[in-house]
Amino acid sequence: MMNRSPIPYGRQDISREDIDAVVDILRSDFLTQGPAVGRFERSVADYCHAGHAVAVNSATSALHIACLAAGLGPGDILWTSPNTFVASANCGLYCGASVDFVDIDPNTYNMSVVSLEKKLKLARQSGRLPKVVIPVHFSGQSCEMKRIAELGREFGFTVIEDASHAIGGRYLGKPVGSCQFSDMTVFSFHPVKIVTTGEGGGVVTNNEALHDKLIRLRSHGITRDPALMKGKSDGGWYYQQLELGFNYRMTDLQAALGISQMSRLDAFVARRNELAGRYDEALSGLPVRLPFQDPGGYSAFHLYVIRVLSNQRDLVFDTLRKENILVNVHYIPVHLQPYYRELGFSAGDFPEAEHYYKETISLPLFPKLSEHQQDTVISCLKKVLS
Ligand SMILES: *Cc1c(COP(=O)(O)O)cnc(C)c1O
Repeated sequence: MMNRSPIPYGRQDISREDIDAVVDILRSDFLTQGPAVGRFERSVADYCHAGHAVAVNSATSALHIACLAAGLGPGDILWTSPNTFVASANCGLYCGASVDFVDIDPNTYNMSVVSLEKKLKLARQSGRLPKVVIPVHFSGQSCEMKRIAELGREFGFTVIEDASHAIGGRYLGKPVGSCQFSDMTVFSFHPVKIVTTGEGGGVVTNNEALHDKLIRLRSHGITRDPALMKGKSDGGWYYQQLELGFNYRMTDLQAALGISQMSRLDAFVARRNELAGRYDEALSGLPVRLPFQDPGGYSAFHLYVIRVLSNQRDLVFDTLRKENILVNVHYIPVHLQPYYRELGFSAGDFPEAEHYYKETISLPLFPKLSEHQQDTVISCLKKVLS
């Protein structure tokens, strides 16, 4: 039993074709951003039914330049969910804006649209409306984007979806990332996410002007397009820096891996849903709360989270970890991080997210998880909860 290799909560799936695609790039002319990046962007945009995709070196970078493209700066306010990775909030601070949170829905664990509307009405009275709102599609299930977009129009904020968990998912019949209800959507291609490029991220949008801006911001704020220059070009070598950008480029090595992975995206998500269904069935008799699925959507199932009684959570976590089952907890509410407490947040600010945090456990879920491994997780859980 103890010789069994660890079962992680998430893991990449790398095929022979993935490896060959990366090796081919090593023998080609471009290692850094080259033609493979453009092909990867096309494949992501087409998959999402979106106009444009911009590939960068992480979702953290993608969130940063998406906020800058939205015009977020000092004096502005960004709102996101407290039940997310810190990057969804940090991007606002990178821009010099201030950050606040909207509590979660007790069923989906996504940003609550009821809390959002209430908070917007209060913010309007006090003249503190957000410029950018970042809903996070927690665990791979889309937020209620239709309502969020309506509120965006009414209260005048830009919507950036953090879909780091959700590529391959669907909402109201369309792929997450179609940007039907948002200005931009951000993806992560970190190895624990749905498809990977090692490190990597991207922004999709249907807005031409935002696309141009994102392209410049990922590479030093530089353009080589004479049409965009101030004054005329000095010659064929000439480029101009128009704003303060970064080196957030993705390499062709990463993009080639991404293209190869995209061809298996539907299969990855189908397998994740299949394994989630097996957990649902096997755990249905136990004193745990299973993940609620909105019938109007199709989750990419980045995470399978269950809730147990808060006085049992640590025992369940420690027992499974001792058995080499590397369960995890998503997420420590961002506002409770020491850095955010320094900014003035404290326990009690977002009670649903805090309550959820005390009870949650993420079980292993990834395409290569075998049914045998999953049965091991299930039987351990049954033992500890009985
Ligand atoms: C993983 C993740 C990020 C950051 O992704 P990186 O590609 O590692 O920068 C941002 N937001 C959410 C919700 C994530 O899960």
